[in-house]
Amino acid sequence: MDLKQYVTTVENWPKEGITFRDITTIMDNGPAYKYATDQIVEYAKEVGAEIIVGPEARGFIIGCPVAYALEIGFAPVRKPGKLPREVISADYGLEYGKDTLTMHHDAIKPGQKVLICDDLLATGGTVEATVRLVEQLGGQVVGCAFLIELLELNGREKLGDLNIKTLIQY
Ligand code: 5GP
Repeated sequence: MDLKQYVTTVENWPKEGITFRDITTIMDNGPAYKYATDQIVEYAKEVGAEIIVGPEARGFIIGCPVAYALEIGFAPVRKPGKLPREVISADYGLEYGKDTLTMHHDAIKPGQKVLICDDLLATGGTVEATVRLVEQLGGQVVGCAFLIELLELNGREKLGDLNIKTLIQY
C-alpha cells in the first residue's frame, strides 16, 4: 500500500512557512491505519521489543495498537504535570527555548528492550529526549519507529547508531 497518499499536507500551519504533515487521514482510514500498524508490528518483532514507549500525543496513536497486537505493555511519555506519580525528566531544545518530557520512575524495568514509537521524525529532539528517559531507567532502546521522516531535518544524526524505521519519507 502506498501510505503517502493518505497523508494530508497542510501549508502554513501551525504558523506561516511551516508545511505540516497531517496523519489523521491515515488514522481515519481503517485499512491504511491497520497497514501502517502492521508494518511497525513486524519491525517490533524483528528488534525484539518487550515494551513500547510513545511521547504524547500522537506517539500514543502509533504505539498503542502495536503494543496491543504484540500483547506487550505501553509506557507514556508526557509533558510535565500530567503523570500522577514520581517522575524522571529530560529537557530538550526547541527553536526558541526548551521543553521537558517526563516518565514514571518505574515505567521501564532495567534491561527491558524498548521500541519508541511516534508519528513523525523531524529534528529528532523529541525522540532523543525520550531515549534519554528510557536509558535513565535502565531500558535498552532496540528501535525507533515513525510513520513519517522529514529527511532534510537530519533527525537521524541526533540518534547516533540507533535502529530507526520510517514508513514514509519527504
Ligand atoms: P522533532 O522533535 O523530531 O523535531 O519533532 C517531532 C515531533 O513534533 C513529533 O512528536 C511530532 O508529533 C511533531 N511534529 C513536528 N512536525 C510535524 C508534522 O509536520 N506533522 C506531524 N503530524 N507532527 C509533527
